[in-house]
Amino acid sequence: MVLQQRGKDLHDFQIQYIKGVGPKRAKLFNRLGIKSVKDALYYLPYRYEDRSSIRKISNISYGSSETVSGKVTSAEVINLPGRNLKIFELVINDGSGLLKARWFNQPFMKKNLRAGDEVLLYGTVKRNSYWGIGFEMDNPEYEIIDDDISSVHMNRIVPVYRVTSGLSVRQVRSVIFNITNTCIKDIIDPVPEEIFKRNALPALTESLYNVHFPDTSANINLLNRGASDFHRRLSFDELFMFELGLAVIKKGSVLEKGTAFKPEGRLLRRLPDLLPFRLTAAQERVFNEIINDMKKPHPMNRLIQGDVGCGKTVIALMAMLVAVECGYQSALMAPTEILAEQHYINIYRLIEDLGLKICLLTGSKKDRPIDRIASGEFDIIAGTHALIQEGVIFKNLGLVVIDEQHRFGVMQRALLRKKALNPDVLVMTATPIPRTLSLTLYGDLDYSIIDEMPPDRRPIKTLLFKSTRKEHIYSIIKEEIKKGRQAYVVYPIIEESEKTDLRSAIVGKNAFEKVFPEFRIGLLHGRMKAQEREQIMASFKQGEIDILVSTTVIEVGVDVPNATLMIIIHAERFGLSQLHQLRGRIGRGTYESYCILIAYEPYGEEARSRLDIMVKSNDGFQIAEEDLNIRGPGEFFGTRQSGMPDLKIANIARDAKLLNVARKEAFALIDKDPELKGLPVLRKSLETFWKGKMELFKTG
Ligand code: ADP
Ligand code: MG
Repeated sequence: MVLQQRGKDLHDFQIQYIKGVGPKRAKLFNRLGIKSVKDALYYLPYRYEDRSSIRKISNISYGSSETVSGKVTSAEVINLPGRNLKIFELVINDGSGLLKARWFNQPFMKKNLRAGDEVLLYGTVKRNSYWGIGFEMDNPEYEIIDDDISSVHMNRIVPVYRVTSGLSVRQVRSVIFNITNTCIKDIIDPVPEEIFKRNALPALTESLYNVHFPDTSANINLLNRGASDFHRRLSFDELFMFELGLAVIKKGSVLEKGTAFKPEGRLLRRLPDLLPFRLTAAQERVFNEIINDMKKPHPMNRLIQGDVGCGKTVIALMAMLVAVECGYQSALMAPTEILAEQHYINIYRLIEDLGLKICLLTGSKKDRPIDRIASGEFDIIAGTHALIQEGVIFKNLGLVVIDEQHRFGVMQRALLRKKALNPDVLVMTATPIPRTLSLTLYGDLDYSIIDEMPPDRRPIKTLLFKSTRKEHIYSIIKEEIKKGRQAYVVYPIIEESEKTDLRSAIVGKNAFEKVFPEFRIGLLHGRMKAQEREQIMASFKQGEIDILVSTTVIEVGVDVPNATLMIIIHAERFGLSQLHQLRGRIGRGTYESYCILIAYEPYGEEARSRLDIMVKSNDGFQIAEEDLNIRGPGEFFGTRQSGMPDLKIANIARDAKLLNVARKEAFALIDKDPELKGLPVLRKSLETFWKGKMELFKTG
């Protein structure tokens, strides 16, 4: 059967036709995401077990993870009636000693394991809970050793796979073993040999074989970390495909025709009189990079990265003025309504004097000025996702600015770009993305960084308080407000609920009103009407509200320089980048600013380290790296949400160096052969990898 399939793409060869699978079991394999033979080859073990030398029970120690093997001497379900608990207990004997294994509330285990069976158990060794001596494992992984004393499951470094009920590790291992021995030769390596050789990586077939069935001499620690040479080769391939796609997208937009703006500076020249500050050197430099792009006859695709408060907005405004002066509309897209509203208000004030018109387009706004946008009445259109919806048509969109890009993905960028014929695109983001990640997320963009804060800034002081220090916290607030400053108080939720015991903004606001009858207190949250929110933000900005009690709706972008106090209630509940963004709301003027983190005990280790980093560091880059360390890349930034292909094997934190190599190779290759005409197999793999995410090649 396998022979008949030769030459066919393994991607199309269904797992069901592999010996030992069949239609029924194929369904179980499908549940693991394995549909084809190729899927199976790329279904990597999540750990490895060295069964070339299994330890004797007499030699194992408490607290460590061990594999033991022996004969089952007793197997029974024990009922603990009072506690409604059923325990399945097993004792094994390996000749050197006894070990007890227990499974809780899984009485059906009785069917799987019986006295007389030879078994392998893997788990953490505990002290026997009744006697305090003797060995025990709770819910260990198990495998029955059957008669077939094959070399697949024993006497080697054995792969362990995640399974689903009805399918045992042993079955999966056997099937994959079978595939590696029959089909692996049919794999065609899409990556040019010179590329992996140059980077000292092994061949693909060799790598696929060895990640499943490594040599006994292999380093098991490297294997378990997914860092063996063979793993590295597979990670490389994935990163290479990822970066190739980015390179193609980038090359494509470089080759495309765009608008060559020819500003003479009529509007820009008037801006300095309207701004209360001078640009920093970094802002000047970045603006020059932008204007150079805008003058070119190809579309701009540039990312501006800079920590919260470094002054990205004014740079965006300057770029928009260039477009407007040349007779084009500009769109500014923000991730939240509050931020869009704020951009609208700020820009409105500045450009009114220049005789320009701006409008706001958000989801919750009733009067949507769609017709007037289409007729070209507005020069600048600020808004949220609403901007990329169908039905929004621009007269002549020349520049698209996307603020706080880390909330949007490639897809949304592409949608907004489609609203015009190749407009220039500028995306802005505050730092909390480590450099390694930004290479993948923004790898198709040119890159500018504002690495300097305006000169008048003083570092924010961050203090951590226990929730019990209320009086002290109140006195700090009182003092700041008496000095004429303003404060934010941020809560994790809007309203108290039965599901959590978290404090809420609404209850918080009432409490603050009681404590500070002499101050003006405002409330802001996502469930309020857009108009109401605009009003509250405007009066906070005017200084008509002293304390703004809010949820995280103010997380990004909000800018009120007179606010010097940020109090975060339940700080233990927030993520690092969120805390950093929230803190970025203060320290925006010349006054000394304080961020007060209020933590409710008890909280875990992870929360503790997040709070510690916040107190220690003001540097967005450093915080982002630490965040990546604590949470790992998957959670840190689900690539899914960004519209990028998923990385299944590579891990951006672990494989950062490999990512850089892959990126260099990919970009060099696309430079030489932009449509991969000379490498049809690679081109096909690339299209499969990016499928549904992005049209990579316009033709074919
Ligand atoms: P972010 O980069 O986080 O978006 P903003 O653009 O909101 O930061 O700018 C933060 C604050 O700094 C704003 O009040 C802005 O007016 C001010 N600002 C921007 N550039 C300068 C500068 N060169 N000197 C002083 N203040 C500046
Ligand atoms: Mg901003």
